Amino acid sequence: MEASAGIKSKCSEFTLAAVSELSSSPASSSSTPVTAWFSSDRGVAELRFCQDSKFIDGFSFDLGTSQLFKLGPVQSLCISENSDCIKENLYSRGVTIEFRNEEESRDFHSAFEQWQNEDVTQGKSLPNGTISAVRSKFDNKIESSSAKMYFHYYGQLLHQQNMLQDYVRTGTYYAAVIENRVDFTGRVVVDVGAGSGILSLFAAQAGAKHVYAVEASEMAEYARKLIAGNPTLGQRITVIKGKVEEVELPEKADILISEPMGTLLVNERMLESYIIARDRFLVPDGKMFPSIGRIHMAPFSDEYLFVEIANKALFWQQQNYYGVDLTPLYGSAFQGYFSQPVVDAFDPRLLVSPPMSHVIDFNEVKEEDLYEIDIPLKFIASVGTRVHGLACWFDVLFNGSSVQRWLTTAPGAPTTHWYQIRCVLSQPIYVMAGQEITGRLHMIAHNAQSYTIYLTMSAKMWGPGAEQGGILQTSSCKLDLKEPYYRMSQPQPYTTAQDQQPHQLLQAQDIPIHTEDLDEPELLQQPLENSGAQLQ
Ligand code: SAH
Repeated sequence: MEASAGIKSKCSEFTLAAVSELSSSPASSSSTPVTAWFSSDRGVAELRFCQDSKFIDGFSFDLGTSQLFKLGPVQSLCISENSDCIKENLYSRGVTIEFRNEEESRDFHSAFEQWQNEDVTQGKSLPNGTISAVRSKFDNKIESSSAKMYFHYYGQLLHQQNMLQDYVRTGTYYAAVIENRVDFTGRVVVDVGAGSGILSLFAAQAGAKHVYAVEASEMAEYARKLIAGNPTLGQRITVIKGKVEEVELPEKADILISEPMGTLLVNERMLESYIIARDRFLVPDGKMFPSIGRIHMAPFSDEYLFVEIANKALFWQQQNYYGVDLTPLYGSAFQGYFSQPVVDAFDPRLLVSPPMSHVIDFNEVKEEDLYEIDIPLKFIASVGTRVHGLACWFDVLFNGSSVQRWLTTAPGAPTTHWYQIRCVLSQPIYVMAGQEITGRLHMIAHNAQSYTIYLTMSAKMWGPGAEQGGILQTSSCKLDLKEPYYRMSQPQPYTTAQDQQPHQLLQAQDIPIHTEDLDEPELLQQPLENSGAQLQ
């Protein structure tokens, strides 16, 4: 596709006060007026700078890989991941741009955005679809280093095998498809994130007319091989290597099938790709397999887990570690451990109240709705205990025309590779049976394909204060869903930086702190920036 006519009509030339290179050498700095040029003459939208009617050498930025930041009202920074195409190095490069006034700065920023959004170059042909070089929604919101690691992970057979060997998962998908043949027979199917191609093969078994298996990682090659090796099904399947945000398909789909769920349903941010695929490929009123996801939450009490986590930071309590006092880092280490959501399978008897749930309807939800998920919490404690945090799990529904099936990851149900997740408060709260526990689970998506979790839990205190309207015990913490603590030793679902150290489950008697001490002692008293408890 050629650069669109729209691009040509946009403002393409700006006079600047100055531009200087962001590098150790001040040699390329210039204080005389410079012109900035947007163009797509070389097939790629780019920004170049011109002085004395000549392009300044090395000052060219491919808009597909560049970002513009405002440093001040008339000063901005343009950074490109790898703008130096001549030297082909991998270092970022940048220039500081000085504008003559604020209005020109604003105009330049909006032109930059326009040129960037319309950075359309010729589509590259794929055997059964095309991929355009538009900077996609995926690229705009996900850090390229995160995406690289993510697709590298899924490009390996061992990780696909781990998912295939989760028989609860794969068996539920198989049953949901085969029991609902009527939804697949004679239909066009898109498999969103096909991996090994297993769901495409299931759909073909259920009589699909044609299946487009879209997979962005190198696994697409293995999927081709697997599908070619099953020719009776394979002749109705086309593997397309690319992101669902970017590939073009020759026809619309009657049904989408996908397994986009991560820990806590939303980790990996692949649900957003599923929604984008819906908007791009699904016919109106088409079916989605699965069609609904629910996040379930309940407060839990688990003294062992709490003490295990608190104890991990004890190392930093040493005052003479080879002659070095480690205690200055104790508070940070303590906070670090409590910022990791714990992934394991726990006994549902640890739950303190019946769960509540947050429903995400995949047919209706907008992709942007998943950028921030804010859930008000309200529970009634069934027992009097110490609450150590919030336990979460999810399920998804296959709303077939013949049979409805839920795939659940609930505690007590057969364990899946997702296990369950627990957000542990560094300061537990005390509750009585029948008491109300309130709070908020606020999750904000970040560009490393995961979420920052802000959890607050509160319970009214009993005792003297309670009669005068009640005093709240409130405890809150900030966690990174990208950095979970895997508390068991089976193969793990996708993650990049995880604590896979073998660890012992501590026995209560081994732990050098007593539960009744936990409120005051030195051990827990460090002020913690993002976690801690307070009375309100
Ligand atoms: N459907 C397979 C694999 C599920 S894992 C199965 O059920 O076994 C999710 C897969 O989606 C991974 O292989 C990953 O590489 C792929 N994926 C994730 N985001 C994608 C995107 N935006 N476009 C295409 N593939 C994607």
